[in-house]
Amino acid sequence: MKRSMELFEEAKKLLPGGVSSPVRAIKPYPFYTRAASGSRIVDIDGNEYIDYCMGYGPLILGHAHPAIREALVRQLERGWLYGTPCELEIQLARKIQRYYPSVEMMRFVNTGTEATMAALRAARGFTGRDKFIKIEGGFHGAHDACLVKAGSGATTLGVPDSLGVPHDFTKNTLQVPYNDTEALVSIIESKKEEIAAMILEPVLGNIGVILPEKGYLEEVRAITRENDIVLIFDEVITGFRLEMGGAQAHFGVEPDMTTLGKVVGGGLPIGIFGGRREIMELVAPQGEVYQAGTFNGNPLSLAAGLAVIETLESEGVHRVINDHGERLRSALSDIIQDKNLGYAVSGIGSMFVVFFGDLPSNYSEALRCDKEGFLEFFKRMLRRGIFLPPSQFETNFISFAHSTDEIDETITAFGEELAG
Ligand SMILES: *Cc1c(COP(=O)(O)O)cnc(C)c1O
Repeated sequence: MKRSMELFEEAKKLLPGGVSSPVRAIKPYPFYTRAASGSRIVDIDGNEYIDYCMGYGPLILGHAHPAIREALVRQLERGWLYGTPCELEIQLARKIQRYYPSVEMMRFVNTGTEATMAALRAARGFTGRDKFIKIEGGFHGAHDACLVKAGSGATTLGVPDSLGVPHDFTKNTLQVPYNDTEALVSIIESKKEEIAAMILEPVLGNIGVILPEKGYLEEVRAITRENDIVLIFDEVITGFRLEMGGAQAHFGVEPDMTTLGKVVGGGLPIGIFGGRREIMELVAPQGEVYQAGTFNGNPLSLAAGLAVIETLESEGVHRVINDHGERLRSALSDIIQDKNLGYAVSGIGSMFVVFFGDLPSNYSEALRCDKEGFLEFFKRMLRRGIFLPPSQFETNFISFAHSTDEIDETITAFGEELAG
């Protein structure tokens, strides 16, 4: 790991914390990647790892999948930025609408962060109200209004609130615990007619994986509808991941608006927000909710997005990765029970996590896990060639490139390293 260490020393002089995004700052230093292919990532010192981080979610087909590479090469021949409409927008929008019927109109942006920011703006424009509700530990990107008790890196580092965010920018951000409809009803009653939207990850994915209790999403849908609150499902992780139609198809609950990202860009930057026609018709230039971007709907991301969706459609990807997820979770549960470790396995489909503590149903319960114990475990797994996301509060992702043998190898490694 000599070269990675040297590079990190250089990087620290140039980049805050030596990295371009906080969760990458693995202690004492992160490995630097030379190349990645399929389920494997290789560092600059020549060590190879089975990757369960998978770019933090986008790489559902694995690294450098040939179908995406071909689509990108084809597009490169024709140029990679036009500043004009192109047919790919319509093709990808049609695909998305087919699997997300609740998304009657949509806009292509560049990141999940932008998508949730714009979705909230549209909901506020539509209702003429300022406040919105988010879930404690829910992560919707790193924009001001959402940096309150946010999951992901913010929780890992213990600074859910950020310097530089004026109080005025978060005073309209209300929080409720996940899986708690009483708290939701009571906050709505106390702020009647002031709440524009409720945004939530249908399955929490940025505080480990936390599942909705039976009936929770249905109740949230009913309560928001009764109160004319725009319900936004942030499916940046779950979209095209749980199944083609994401969490809304899986749980059979239809939101008013949806945000997508990660998987739907095939590994290139993308974000999408969309929803009911009457809301989306308010987005500029059709309406007066302003949103714009030089790289919106850029042809490379759209081409990669189409390629990933076509591959998901034709290769039976979800069945394979969800089966692997099922087998992995059940084997890990057995290991934990046999060893009497007092840990919990959580997840759904191709997402999984081992909580170093009791199974949490919300943010404050998740925070009780043994974070330090997890980090020690993370390091042991890395030494034996398995790269997990470097935090208790991230999600492990299985890709189509992970083989049955690799899943078995991973189970063995968990079995040997979990005991400590
Ligand atoms: C990753 C993530 C985002 C932010 O997406 P970026 O592309 O990183 O800006 C938003 N919401 C959820 C649920 C995410 O997991």
